[in-house]
Amino acid sequence: MSVQNSAGPLQGRVAVVTGASSGIGEATAEKLAALGAHVAVLARRAERLEELAARIVKNGGRALAITADVTDRAAVRSAARRVAAELGGADLLFNNAGVMLPAPVEEQATGQWQHQIDLNVTALTHVTGAFVPQLVKAAGERGVADLVSTSSIAAQNIFPTFAVYSATKAYVTHFSRHLRTELGPKNVRVSAIEPGIVGTELQSHVTDEGARQWLAGSKETMEWLTPQDVADTVAFLATLPPRANLQQVTLMPTAQPA
Ligand code: NDP
Repeated sequence: MSVQNSAGPLQGRVAVVTGASSGIGEATAEKLAALGAHVAVLARRAERLEELAARIVKNGGRALAITADVTDRAAVRSAARRVAAELGGADLLFNNAGVMLPAPVEEQATGQWQHQIDLNVTALTHVTGAFVPQLVKAAGERGVADLVSTSSIAAQNIFPTFAVYSATKAYVTHFSRHLRTELGPKNVRVSAIEPGIVGTELQSHVTDEGARQWLAGSKETMEWLTPQDVADTVAFLATLPPRANLQQVTLMPTAQPA
């Protein structure tokens, strides 16, 4: 059993990670737990969450698996109540669940448009709302709390066929900037992370043939980021001195031009 987390820099903190059953969320939950945080991991796939929680515990950490569809507002509110009741409330929210479904706009992929908006925009907003009271309370008591959301380089750069996805991520970045002005004075740091391409399950959900080919080609010509790279960035943000809020981080694969 690892003992490194017993004196880790996040000892005593409670982190909620959405989209924790794979990719960036899974790696970040493991990283935050290794640094001492008690992590609540949320996603829909219960078995994956239980495996993750068991692995964290085996490595000497503490984890609570909460199966929840974050597009279900009642489930989100219930998850927040559980975190308050069982862990004493969150002081770090990693708002990370998301989906990327590029397609040419003329194809009228209305189901995919709605799916991205429902998850990347609406659910992210409601998850934030459900946990903000806990973050503000924790910041009042301990002097700092963190609200970190996963945006994307797509929030800044312009890609054909990615209009809806990119717009949802522009929302995440802008939402975070505005919330920082509101919550910073209450000692809640607000950050948006904008990664370039990270090798995860995200790409496997893409159905558009053009985008699939573009992704396959890019994998051949450059080394993508790993979920651990993003996890390390979240850990860096959360372990800065309470006075320091790194509000926006763009993390690119070195060889990704845009
Ligand atoms: P993954 O597909 O590996 O992870 C997505 C996670 O979101 C899964 O854990 C999934 O779990 C969860 N999720 C999806 N729908 C729901 C839902 N309705 N309720 C609860 N959880 C849900 O992809 P990534 O790790 O790459 O994605 C994480 C974030 O990173 C996303 O916001 C994505 O947009 C962003 N991002 C990713 C980049 C990349 O290149 N990979 C680049 C830039 C940003 P489950 O299915 O079990 O519910």
